[in-house]
Amino acid sequence: MRRGGAGFWLICCAALVLPMFAQFRGHGGPPWQRPVASTQFIHIGDATIQVDFGPGTFTLPQDKIMQWVKNAASAVATYYGRFPVSRDRILIEPAPGSGVLRGTTWGDVSGFQAFHRVVLGQQTSQQDLDDDWQMTHEMVHAAFPTMDDEHHWIEEGIATYVEPIARVQRGFLRPEKIWADMLHDMPQGDPEGSDGGLDHTRSWGRTYWGGAQFCLLADVSIRQQTKNQKGLQDALRAIVQAGGTIDEDWPLRQALETGDKATGTHVLVQMYDAMRDTPKSVDLDHIWQQLGVVRSGNGVRFDDHAPLAAARAAITHAPADGEILPR
Ligand SMILES: [Zn+2]
Repeated sequence: MRRGGAGFWLICCAALVLPMFAQFRGHGGPPWQRPVASTQFIHIGDATIQVDFGPGTFTLPQDKIMQWVKNAASAVATYYGRFPVSRDRILIEPAPGSGVLRGTTWGDVSGFQAFHRVVLGQQTSQQDLDDDWQMTHEMVHAAFPTMDDEHHWIEEGIATYVEPIARVQRGFLRPEKIWADMLHDMPQGDPEGSDGGLDHTRSWGRTYWGGAQFCLLADVSIRQQTKNQKGLQDALRAIVQAGGTIDEDWPLRQALETGDKATGTHVLVQMYDAMRDTPKSVDLDHIWQQLGVVRSGNGVRFDDHAPLAAARAAITHAPADGEILPR
């Protein structure tokens, strides 16, 4: 969303939506002005990520935390074919506790196209970092233009849907794990009785998982219409390639049309027109059956004879241009 007059854009992953300045009043100013104790850099392709650490200590050595950031950057770069912005900044602030306690991403801050603030527990373990999704989620936000408030669902939906797929493509997760998670979590995006279309519903479930349902259905539909030659990944890469990153303020339709052009379909625009003003249920059970994702115990097994089994495999397949590693 755009912050009036200040030239800042904010994606908030902590469901914290307050007016600019009021949000930071009494909190020592905006997060990008907070103290920095040390700085390191990650180079990945042509992009530079500045990683700043706030004052304080962690149980883990700093190089383990840097490796966690590098892994997330590498997953996102692999999915998009490059790291989406050329100048990125992350501020990692220690706080009591363990794991990622909060992550927030802003666009166009002090010469950086994207700025992420991550509050990380001082007792965070290696397992916590290995299990973490949020660093990747925040970086995915850099790869889509900033939208008006009513389209917040597409920003969170893309981050929610792409994050695990990017980690599978980079080899950090097994496909069975993320399809099991999708099977379990996707229903949280179903519309409830009082819900409007996606542009009219601000609930957490509809914003994150309703948006992710939109992405899943779009991915499957694009693959059906293109005989599995294209997917949502091609659409999202094209949006970044056209300059649609978080520091740019685009109308949603411009992004969707840019994506559709790359896949030679009208899937994104047509789905948006069908779902923006009217609560539409996505038939998830039908999608799982078509993709060959079968509930099995606490997880899933794959049915490779299902009609869209090849589409399911293509969604998590490592891209033809390979894994992109940080230097
Ligand atoms: Zn988010």
